Amino acid sequence: MKRNTTCAQEAFLEANRVIPGGVNSPVRAFTSVGTTPVFVSRGQGARVWDIDGNEYIDYIGSWGPLILGHAHPKVVESIQMEAIRGTSFGLSTQIETKMAVQICNSLPSVEMVRMVNSGTEAAMTAIRLARGYTKRQKIVKFQGNYHGHADALLIKSGSGVATLGLPDSPGVPDNVTMNTITIPYNSLESIQLAFERYGEQIAAVMVEPVAGNMGVVPPLPGFLQELREITAKYGSLLIFDEVMTGFRVSYQGAQGLYGIEPDLTCLGKVIGGGLPVGAYGGKREIMEQIAPVGPIYQAGTLSGNPLAMSAGYRTLRLLEEPGIYEELDRKTAKLAEGFMQNARRIGVPLKVNRVGSMLSPYFTEQDVVNYETAQRSNMHRFKKYHAAMLDLGILTAPTPYEVMFVSTAHSDEDIENTIEAHYQALNTIKK
Ligand code: PLP
Repeated sequence: MKRNTTCAQEAFLEANRVIPGGVNSPVRAFTSVGTTPVFVSRGQGARVWDIDGNEYIDYIGSWGPLILGHAHPKVVESIQMEAIRGTSFGLSTQIETKMAVQICNSLPSVEMVRMVNSGTEAAMTAIRLARGYTKRQKIVKFQGNYHGHADALLIKSGSGVATLGLPDSPGVPDNVTMNTITIPYNSLESIQLAFERYGEQIAAVMVEPVAGNMGVVPPLPGFLQELREITAKYGSLLIFDEVMTGFRVSYQGAQGLYGIEPDLTCLGKVIGGGLPVGAYGGKREIMEQIAPVGPIYQAGTLSGNPLAMSAGYRTLRLLEEPGIYEELDRKTAKLAEGFMQNARRIGVPLKVNRVGSMLSPYFTEQDVVNYETAQRSNMHRFKKYHAAMLDLGILTAPTPYEVMFVSTAHSDEDIENTIEAHYQALNTIKK
């Protein structure tokens, strides 16, 4: 049955009068699927309800942060208790140190960490730090990797930029992007060529160790290892952008999962427990180049905000409980297997990529290993599939370039219902 969107349509019209595109982040407009965007009224556990009263099993999870589901009682309690004492001081609080200790103890490559307000800020500052530390200009990024919207990194990005088909953005000066070298993800040959040509000038390679902004694309065997070796050989820094994968694919992030230690790591999403947070951290020697110890500047009025710190800290402590990641893995594997079985039964070409609780179905026959192969996913099929899933009460990202996130709040029954809905949705698109 088609869901009712009367209130959402009205709300979207009203929003469009005062907010560009009616949204505060482009992907929320559902432009690429051409349906009315979801206007949320509330969330609880694995579910959200929209302002028309439709109920959904949610796999967007705020685009990654909500690994414990919506409004987890203990996370909400931490925020409430902190808010009573004051929402922001712009001065030091002890919860910031607790949070930093928690992160440093979890990620072996991180000896010091600085909190910021978003993943964008984390990535932007990690680049500044790498350039300041190495006294070099050039950086390497991978096509289809998204590191937020800082000028130097907004080139051949995935995520919303991929969905909108913008190769880069007007307003980004050429002399900023001139120093950004973009190469295909998972290509050892390209990375070797880039270093042969520019090695002595490369300050850093920034990579999503598991790409999550062209759907999920795992690193091919040897890829991260090669990045580690070649950057070390040329005196460049290796930066893992773990904004999405940090505390998501394992408690130690992708670096723990694949056993590679980067020089710097960017974090965000999960570490904020649903509040605005980012962080960058790494080796002491590099981190001590940041002001006020060193000369490289970075600051923030709300950085280390006590509400965000307490929500994030509580989230990380809850994630330490034994068996959490194994359960997430098991449920997401079940979802992936169910999707594949449906596709085989119905006869729709489908590839499903998965790492931990991140999953992406692509409407293609070919393995998806980089941006080019991700772009082969059939958009026409995706649109029909997405609309059918929404009508069946399953909320997934309105673009094949964003990941499905499973949380600890998703029950086995939710997973089974989602597989059943997927079967019905695939049947609709076949017609
Ligand atoms: N890096 C990665 C890997 C991301 O997935 C994102 C956001 O999706 C960012 C950076 C930017 O983070 P934010 O949206 O918090 O600025």
